[in-house]
Amino acid sequence: MRAVHLESGVVSVKSVPKPRAIPGFATIRLLYGGICNTDLELQRGYYGFRGTPGHEFVGEVVEAGDRSLLGKRVVGEINLACGKCAWCARGLGRHCPKRTVLGIVRHPGAFRELLTLPVENLHVVPREVSTEQAVFVEPLAAACEILDQVKIPKGAAVAVLGDGKLGLLIAQALHAHGAEVHQYGRHREKLRISEAAGVSVESAKKLPTAAYDWVVDSTGSTEGLKQAVSMTRPRGTLIMKSTVHGLVAIDTAPVIVNELTLVGSRCGRFEPALRLLRSGKVRVDDMISDLMPLEQAPQAFERAAQKGVLKVLLRAS
Ligand SMILES: [Zn+2]
Ligand SMILES: [Zn+2]
Repeated sequence: MRAVHLESGVVSVKSVPKPRAIPGFATIRLLYGGICNTDLELQRGYYGFRGTPGHEFVGEVVEAGDRSLLGKRVVGEINLACGKCAWCARGLGRHCPKRTVLGIVRHPGAFRELLTLPVENLHVVPREVSTEQAVFVEPLAAACEILDQVKIPKGAAVAVLGDGKLGLLIAQALHAHGAEVHQYGRHREKLRISEAAGVSVESAKKLPTAAYDWVVDSTGSTEGLKQAVSMTRPRGTLIMKSTVHGLVAIDTAPVIVNELTLVGSRCGRFEPALRLLRSGKVRVDDMISDLMPLEQAPQAFERAAQKGVLKVLLRAS
């Protein structure tokens, strides 16, 4: 079968053996995979990654111990936890120290014709959610994670900094939660997507100072955190959603003087994301820039790295 291979910054497509069935795991036929900024970071050498990337996917179960899953469209949580440690016992397998991560840490990714994941990682995609929309469950879950970590009151003003894929999902998820979201970005055409969902959008050219109790940095840039700090009011909370590879230089004085709470935020539960997509409150269709066959993965990665491009999907076969 065909699989995308990433090594030393080069994306290629290879023939690899079909995965063997492992007890407790399902074999899933890829329908669509989504290229995410993390994949582009892996290409740049993040984690010293070598192998099949891909952690955003929707597929169809072709083999599983639980026969009721056969033929079902599924999405899958990307952290493979040990199930035995204290973190796992608390339901926080996403922090299991022994975890492997689909397409990121020691588990072959989803950009292959057949992939494997533990059955407990899978969520059946409801009928109301299209296959294309389902690719966004993983990043949307990461957006929803914010609401699991901090209690943002309904009606509270929240600034979301950045208008990339994750920023657009965060702004829409917080808006659906009932917050008064102001999204700051540099791309009119991208901001239009969250604006259509009811988010109020502003240009990031001029950012207000000490204006919000809640600020989310999803710029993906080293500048973002600094800007977010200056936008946050004393005693406010700043949620850090940019995973920037390398060191971010930041003056900690305003954080300390203004007694800000900094919250790091990563992956989230899939259930709230599936609920949001099902409700139609989060619009993802306009976020698809391209749909390309798996065979054209090298071109698809190039396209995903271009300015102004949002989600590039890979389609198996
Ligand atoms: Zn991702
Ligand atoms: Zn564990």
